[in-house]
Amino acid sequence: MSDIRTGHCNCGAVRFRTRGPLREVVACHCSQCRRQTGLYYAATNVADENIEIEGEANITWYHASDVAKRGFCATCGSALFWKHQADQHISVLAGAFDQPSGLAITKHIFCTDKGDFYEITDGLPQYAKGSAGLLVAED
Ligand SMILES: [Zn+2]
Ligand SMILES: [Zn+2]
Repeated sequence: MSDIRTGHCNCGAVRFRTRGPLREVVACHCSQCRRQTGLYYAATNVADENIEIEGEANITWYHASDVAKRGFCATCGSALFWKHQADQHISVLAGAFDQPSGLAITKHIFCTDKGDFYEITDGLPQYAKGSAGLLVAED
């Protein structure tokens, strides 16, 4: 099958491979994403059965809330994954993909929580909290 994408953390201990089309990239500016990344989270997502993860033992899962966890490489700290327990999809950080990823940001969410040191100026839709049809941890 074509439409294969690969990616990895900074040190290479965690690698992944996705199959098939991926969701548009959503940029989340909530306070958790701000603190985890230092800026904001930009992630696509993929059905659980369409991703293979190598080096899973090297992922630390931080249970950031009752419903979702954040996965990062235990060695190099690269943020990689976000997983909502009610979803059969896993979010994958767009920046972790090998380039060219063919991905594009299409919207911004939790804009009211964004850091005060930057502006969102790309003209894409901005949502104060989540947007319809998107499963998020915060309300
Ligand atoms: Zn790593
Ligand atoms: Zn967020």
